[in-house]
Amino acid sequence: MALENMENVEVFNSEGKGRGLRATKELWAGDVLFAEPSYSAVVFDSLTQGVCHNCFKKQLKLQRCGQCKFAHYCDRTCQKEGWAEHKSECSAIKKNGSVPNENIRLAARILWRIEKEGSALSEGRLTSLDDLENHLDDLGEDDMKELKVDVHNFLDFWPSNSRMFGVQYISHIFGLINCNGFTLSDQRGLQAVGVGIFPNLCLVNHNCWPNCTVILNNGKIELRAIGKISPGEELTVSYVDFLCLSQDRRKQLKLQYHFDCTCEHCTKGIKDDLMEAVKEEEGNKPSAEVVKEVITFSTDTLQKIEKSRSEGNYHEVVKYCRECLKRQEPVLAETNIHMLRVLSIASEVLSYLQSFHEASDYSNKMVQGYLKLYHPNNAQLGMATMRAGVTHWHTGLIEVAHGMICKAYAILMVTHGPTHPITKDLEAIRMQTEMELRMFQQNEYVYYSMREAALKNQPMKMMAEPGQEAIKNLFHKK
Ligand SMILES: [Zn+2]
Ligand SMILES: [Zn+2]
Ligand SMILES: [Zn+2]
Repeated sequence: MALENMENVEVFNSEGKGRGLRATKELWAGDVLFAEPSYSAVVFDSLTQGVCHNCFKKQLKLQRCGQCKFAHYCDRTCQKEGWAEHKSECSAIKKNGSVPNENIRLAARILWRIEKEGSALSEGRLTSLDDLENHLDDLGEDDMKELKVDVHNFLDFWPSNSRMFGVQYISHIFGLINCNGFTLSDQRGLQAVGVGIFPNLCLVNHNCWPNCTVILNNGKIELRAIGKISPGEELTVSYVDFLCLSQDRRKQLKLQYHFDCTCEHCTKGIKDDLMEAVKEEEGNKPSAEVVKEVITFSTDTLQKIEKSRSEGNYHEVVKYCRECLKRQEPVLAETNIHMLRVLSIASEVLSYLQSFHEASDYSNKMVQGYLKLYHPNNAQLGMATMRAGVTHWHTGLIEVAHGMICKAYAILMVTHGPTHPITKDLEAIRMQTEMELRMFQQNEYVYYSMREAALKNQPMKMMAEPGQEAIKNLFHKK
């Protein structure tokens, strides 16, 4: 795959952060700063038979490689396209008679590419893999042990007729996979399916309130502006979900990415007050004791919810959510993140169980809270609003549904762009809800009979199975 044009960005020295990228010209919300194909990428171990090893689409029927019987592809075209990356892997798997884990497969793909092309800069590439951070010095004892095991297994897998790399260099590759591996999602953005390395993206520093977002579209990542950017301004993305207290975001960033976030939102604790807010009615607030009790109850219940959800026990999830919300609603404000977490799971699971009435009520509350917390062009906000809109459509609340769908569409046009499969789906839904709304305003009877038909013909499937973990973190962590 050819590299794209990089004329909108340049590498510079960002004070206190090392290298960074900045804009070379003025940009607006929705502008693509650059698109970049992966340098190397692999499908997760758990999904090697359900996801194409070339385009990372999730498919019911895939064809497997006749040689190694391991790699799977949509069709001949994908197999041919993926051959250059798979060729050496294919013969190594055949020779070993076993398949190593995803980390080792990715390291091997990277090193075969370096063997073939060298590691010098080429056109469109702003950094060499040699110059990327590996944070090996920051690894704890356990992580270091794990890395050594990976290197050991890698050397077992690596064929003797391939170029020999030193242990130090191989460790560097594992280190950079560890801190720069980007999570690849399926074509609908619903499920994490693999991990890949995008060297130019690695140069974009973090900010909890960034001016860009990253989206995977058709095998390439796109760096998209979510607001106006001036020439010379540093480009940033958020490595973590914003909906955590600043101290928790900082803790996570330190643990996973080994730096102290000094962004404005963290240093000033912006929006922390909203995320912790309690209900206030006519100047009356619940006592600190009551609040503490509810928060403890929420934290405990959320653990139970996560456990039931991962076991696929969705009716139990709903039971816990209802119990928790009953305790939270009189005490916590609508922007309190403890309540928003429960509302998000409750609406997701109830939609999946087709209890749309209750789901739409929760999803509406969730979106109202999100609107006060997230950046107006945040991708999570767009996706949540879209799901809430579809849930309302199922309930027959067409006016609210159409409003939400339009709002979501406006956000996704910025964060995903017009060619992304999710935006295209949403466009079709928007046309449907627009037509239904017009119908509803003219003649309610006709509207209801048409809706019946629409529900039968094309159920709007935008919901992932709720057992899957939502993709909120940019980079993959084992
Ligand atoms: Zn494919
Ligand atoms: Zn093969
Ligand atoms: Zn921050």
